[in-house]
Amino acid sequence: MTVSSTPSIIAIDGPAASGKSTLGHRLALELDYLFFDTGTMYRVITLLAIEKGLDLHDEAAVTRLAQQTELDIRPATVNDGRTCDVLVEGRDVTWEIRRRKVDANVSMIAAYAGVREALKHQQHRIGMRGRVVMVGRDIGTVILPEADLKIYLDASAEERARRRSAEIKARNGQANYDEILEKVIERDLIDSTREVAPLKRAEDAVVINTDQQSADEVFEQILNLCK
Ligand code: C5P
Repeated sequence: MTVSSTPSIIAIDGPAASGKSTLGHRLALELDYLFFDTGTMYRVITLLAIEKGLDLHDEAAVTRLAQQTELDIRPATVNDGRTCDVLVEGRDVTWEIRRRKVDANVSMIAAYAGVREALKHQQHRIGMRGRVVMVGRDIGTVILPEADLKIYLDASAEERARRRSAEIKARNGQANYDEILEKVIERDLIDSTREVAPLKRAEDAVVINTDQQSADEVFEQILNLCK
């Protein structure tokens, strides 16, 4: 009998625009695993809070919204660059949650303890089923400390902003590098200094700095870690 040594629960954490989603999605396809991008959950709550006209500083109101929201993340059904379909009450919000207004507010909302608590259990439950690549900020540290393989992807803020600008331009959007850089730095600061589940590498995570590497090189490195 051969026993597979491929890790079943794979956690990928790292700062904004570090390539977690692109690489995590590619890895999940390669291994035939579920890809679960937890950032989408915080983005959906932020989008809905904006649409409903909530005061985004009202932690209790935003927490109630997170507790009541039924969201669904499914394999992509449209071939437009997405890694998954993000649905809320049957509505496809996959691209809306990438809007600038969401980017600008999501880290504040993700710092609310009640919001994190509301989403944590769903994330843990899905992760524990195994055969999953889960990406976020606190997967290896808080959500799935039992993960079989933990990766922390890092890159300089400048390189991440450059890649994000190129990504937006490739989707025919308008991208301002300086503005993106400023927002990336701001988001990192909020994410890494918040009280609850801050962005940090798990002690047993493998750190990969992607500054000097192509996406293919990083992918090969991750694949090797899975073998
Ligand atoms: O990864 P992405 O940039 O889509 O995540 C959006 C935001 O959601 C992050 O800036 C962070 O504030 C929050 N987030 C988080 N914990 C996670 C995933 C995302 O706090 N596990």
